[in-house]
Amino acid sequence: MTVKKIQSTRTSANEMFYNDFMAVLEIRKYPEKILKQKTIPLQTIDGNTQRLIDDMIETMHAARGVGLAANQVGISQKLCVLDLSLTENKAPLIVLINPVIVERDGIVEAEEGCLSIPGYLTSLKRAGKVFIKGVNREGKDVAMEAEGLLARAIQHELDHLEGLLFIDRMSPIKREFFKRRYKKQMKEAKGK
Ligand code: ZN
Repeated sequence: MTVKKIQSTRTSANEMFYNDFMAVLEIRKYPEKILKQKTIPLQTIDGNTQRLIDDMIETMHAARGVGLAANQVGISQKLCVLDLSLTENKAPLIVLINPVIVERDGIVEAEEGCLSIPGYLTSLKRAGKVFIKGVNREGKDVAMEAEGLLARAIQHELDHLEGLLFIDRMSPIKREFFKRRYKKQMKEAKGK
């Protein structure tokens, strides 16, 4: 895994002595294999987990995403972060460890994109409301109900943790069309 380090934007000279770095990790892109693999539930939450969570939050913010799963940065662990503050005022930062959807309600069709499939948006049907359970970064059990964009983002990230991308939820015809277009785009990008 390559790690691109950027210096903190803090300006105080004293703070420089703390060697205060934030790590923005490389986001894995389709069709990398790790994105197709089911992630492994966490047994313990240690210092490495906390560091990974902080780096995932930095990476999500740097990429201007609203959610990021650990396997998107090359770590096959059942962990994701969400932050809708780009689109909604006062949206909380959410860290979910070993999350599961225990209830779904309704169907809503809306457009979504993925940091691992840049430049591609598609309209997908997903549950309008979800009830989830999991563990937060302090190791405490959490349960929450979500609707709207948060419900969509949670379903998208939990799909990642199961090794599923949004293209796996498209109709076979639409998916074939996407694959052809994506391959062509990749070839053109390489040719430049
Ligand atoms: Zn995604």
